[in-house]
Amino acid sequence: MLSIIIPSYNEEENVTNTANVVVGIMEQNQIDFELIFINDGSTDNTWEKLKELSHNDKRIISINFSRNFGKESAIYAGLANVSGDCAVLMDCDLQHPPETIVEMYSIWKNNDVDVVEGIKADRGKEKKAYRGFAKLFYKLIHKASGIDMADSSDFKLLDRKVVESLNAMPERLTFFRALSSWVGFKTEKVYFEVAERHSGESKFTIGTLIKYAFSSITSFTNLPMQIVTGCGVVIFLLALIMGVNTLYNYITGNSDAGFTTVILLILLTSSILMVSLGIIGYYLSKIYDEIKHRPRFIIRDIENSKRDKK
Ligand code: UDP
Ligand code: MG
Repeated sequence: MLSIIIPSYNEEENVTNTANVVVGIMEQNQIDFELIFINDGSTDNTWEKLKELSHNDKRIISINFSRNFGKESAIYAGLANVSGDCAVLMDCDLQHPPETIVEMYSIWKNNDVDVVEGIKADRGKEKKAYRGFAKLFYKLIHKASGIDMADSSDFKLLDRKVVESLNAMPERLTFFRALSSWVGFKTEKVYFEVAERHSGESKFTIGTLIKYAFSSITSFTNLPMQIVTGCGVVIFLLALIMGVNTLYNYITGNSDAGFTTVILLILLTSSILMVSLGIIGYYLSKIYDEIKHRPRFIIRDIENSKRDKK
């Protein structure tokens, strides 16, 4: 059986249509499936719509969060409730074409692969600035962690083994796209065209995206902290040169000029110190969040659950 996980946040205009389209395609291709919708604390009628869907079709599982926990948490709630032999993650707005699921499924079924990754063949109608930002972000991650994620997406098929190893990870602050590569396994790629959003608007603002980028980078690499050490070394070398120069001026009796140097040095070192402290503080706060061991999400209601897990 194939489990299809669909995080939904304020998608009242999409859930019913998405469910119908996906169910139709699965039935047409005779794939045994279940749909797992996660209502990520929507403020509209998404949950009412989902309850109705679950009521009419026992194959549709609906999970209701107690508040908005973010897409990452919704993905993990889905993974925790998978009862199929493999699972696919897709967006609720049909930007991930459901036909591609059939392709992924047959690759998984006919070959010895554990992960079928959806790669964006073109990025759809994204804004230029967003595209540039995404490119820079993935370049950073690639440099820092060696994982190449350019044009990757959350649109993936995972074998049960992979789902289980992701579920077994104890960390709370996750970055699904990278973690699903980090666990390894045999991966195959599938290219898809990003469709236009079916209805409504993107749920990610520039602010949330920047926050997401920061938290993803820091949850995945310690490189920023090593950069801090690098800055320290560079400053120390500069200080040595300046020190020799200052002593030389003192000995030769030219020591009163140089206020500009002093001001510049103070500005430079103090700003680097501030930034460094900020980076270290950021990691510290992440460690603090992590050791609190709070759950990734809190479920309020669940319909048609096959597991009586939380
Ligand atoms: N989503 C979510 N929680 C959030 C934000 C988004 O579950 O806090 C879901 C949303 O309902 C959709 C998917 O994540 O199914 C992708 O969101 P969206 O289409 O807004 O993002 P974009 O396509 O612009 O990257
Ligand atoms: Mg979308």
